[in-house]
Amino acid sequence: MKVFKFGGASVQSADGIKNVASIISQHSNQPLLIVVSAMGKITNQLEILTEAFMESNVVAREHSYAAIKDYHYNILNELFEKNHNVFLKIEQIFHHLKLYIEQQPGTNYNFEYDRIVSTGEILSSQILSHYLNKVGLNNQWMDSRNLIITNASYRDAQPDWNQTSQAVKNKILPYLSNSLGDNKHPIVVTQGFIGGTTQGFTTTLGREGSDFSAAIFAFSLDAEEVTIWKDVPGLLNADPKIFKETVLLPKISYQEAIELSYYGATVIHPKTLKPLLSKNIPLRVKSFIHPEKEGSLIHKLPVTAKYPASYIFKFNQVLLSIMPKDFSFIAEDNLSLIFSSFARIGVKINLMQNSAISFSVCFDKDKTKTPALMKDLEKNFNLRHNENLELITIRHYENAVIGNIIKDRKVLLEQKNRTTLQLVVS
Ligand code: ASP
Repeated sequence: MKVFKFGGASVQSADGIKNVASIISQHSNQPLLIVVSAMGKITNQLEILTEAFMESNVVAREHSYAAIKDYHYNILNELFEKNHNVFLKIEQIFHHLKLYIEQQPGTNYNFEYDRIVSTGEILSSQILSHYLNKVGLNNQWMDSRNLIITNASYRDAQPDWNQTSQAVKNKILPYLSNSLGDNKHPIVVTQGFIGGTTQGFTTTLGREGSDFSAAIFAFSLDAEEVTIWKDVPGLLNADPKIFKETVLLPKISYQEAIELSYYGATVIHPKTLKPLLSKNIPLRVKSFIHPEKEGSLIHKLPVTAKYPASYIFKFNQVLLSIMPKDFSFIAEDNLSLIFSSFARIGVKINLMQNSAISFSVCFDKDKTKTPALMKDLEKNFNLRHNENLELITIRHYENAVIGNIIKDRKVLLEQKNRTTLQLVVS
């Protein structure tokens, strides 16, 4: 059994859905679990809808709802004839969404966000499932809100691995283990990104979390392999939007891929690899535009494997220097105060460095979290901060190329170990 994950870019249009169906049909000689993201940039649009709902901004809310509905109906009209039963299903989903957003918003933003934003994956998975059935790829749609069981950390939910494994095994395995004869095998279609609490409330795993969903399913089902279908040829040594000359990493170890995604390589969600590593399940990253190409394979490789230099750029960074207001140094008591602020407000640290009297931290700027964090820290510390910075990470760096990367920019902070160089530049 294999797990295929299709991201938003692969299903952003009617042609995209047709292409996904063609890829699936070429692999339908084995049981498949298909995990799909919301279409195109719908998650961003649903975030805008959530904002409008929370602010009770009726005009913005109606406008946003109509745009989301139009987008899906344009795709539906291209894929299905007018009287197809998919229209009834999609109408029901929009009807529920409309009823929900016409209510008074609750006070828990993250709870409301998950309830609304999860609709993107419900819609895309229903459309894909109906289309696959239409072209003879018979499949079962399953609701991941009953499969991936999480805690109630809305927008950043953590799976309960035992409950999830059990639910996934009980509900999916009986279906996938039935051979359909004639070398045909069952297909299950489900959603990435979303889960549910034991009380039945919808949760999400964090933006770009569908890769993680694919890994959770693969882990729970002891899958043979996971493939993430992307709009890039595989794992590259830099983002092709930033670097003209990139090279493909055809085979890399789990550990190397974990480091790259942790430092911010956006091809794979950082939480994806550890569950796969624990069960030795290989991960392929392939292009949905050129499915015939090999792509990249992440699997078990010796730690001595050699890699070319990889470059990771993170923009919109804040560099915050935190200094005790009293005569104390940066030691365990102050560090524990600082870290508890970051944890409570949910700000993830990208880089940190300390001296006797100052602790410097680099993190992504966030409209609400950054001011909340500063306000909290200001109670005990003096702060100095810079914004609009870039964090450059070079894995397997060679001293000769560093100057070319920095160019005429100012380096505000530098950190080096044997394999990785990180620079915060203005
Ligand atoms: N649709 C969600 C997002 O855009 C999850 C995902 O695509 O992985 O963040």
